[in-house]
Amino acid sequence: MRQKLAAGNWKMNGTAAALAEVDALNSHSSIAAVDVVICPPATLLSRMSERLTHSSIETGGQDCHPAASGAHTGDVSAAMLVDAGAAYVILGHSERREDHGETSALVCAKAGAAMNAGLTAIICVGESETQRDDGTTLTVIEDQLAGSIPDVVTARNLVIAYEPIWAIGTGRVPTLSQIEEVHDFIRTNLITRFGEKTGAATRILYGGSVKPSNAAEIFHVVNVDGALVGGASLKANDFSAIITAL
Ligand code: 13P
Repeated sequence: MRQKLAAGNWKMNGTAAALAEVDALNSHSSIAAVDVVICPPATLLSRMSERLTHSSIETGGQDCHPAASGAHTGDVSAAMLVDAGAAYVILGHSERREDHGETSALVCAKAGAAMNAGLTAIICVGESETQRDDGTTLTVIEDQLAGSIPDVVTARNLVIAYEPIWAIGTGRVPTLSQIEEVHDFIRTNLITRFGEKTGAATRILYGGSVKPSNAAEIFHVVNVDGALVGGASLKANDFSAIITAL
């Protein structure tokens, strides 16, 4: 059985005042049955890690550099994330692939560094609206999976997040059968590459406009093991409702 996972991606949102949101999550009772991770901006990571007292809630970074240390102004290494209390790191989010020109090869190098430092990498894949319209979704996903995942994978250090770019922050969500098709494809791909044991045990999250109102039906889809939540993870009430739906 794969343990369900609710991951919150705060993106570039939140200053110290936002840490009050985690207090409500600390006392949330249904969290014990699932895994929860919140990925705040790097500036809040260590303070959030200290403030989260619930044993099922962990923190994560939103990116890391492939190198362990050195002359890389503005970057953060995987070991620094661990030092700040993180257990996870989101890598290859479409906003980083687009805003920072990140290639799958770079994402792969970052994931290798993250796994080497003991982090679980949440590697994001997903098609643009044009690619969906052109019918190339599965080819795009296949290429991203092949290029972004290092060989040093175990079932514990890898999570895949399927995030169609056109569904992020738009309120638009794929149909349940579209979600199922891509998640099935990713599952088969993981099993083919990493074997039945690892491939079947790796969690695959859906991300893109997940809300309390649509979470339950999405979580019922085969091979959906949780969600990577953006906007709705910023408020404890909304994120709690999504966690309860898991
Ligand atoms: P929204 O939930 O705001 O659509 O963002 C999804 C996302 O990009 C999470 O990484």
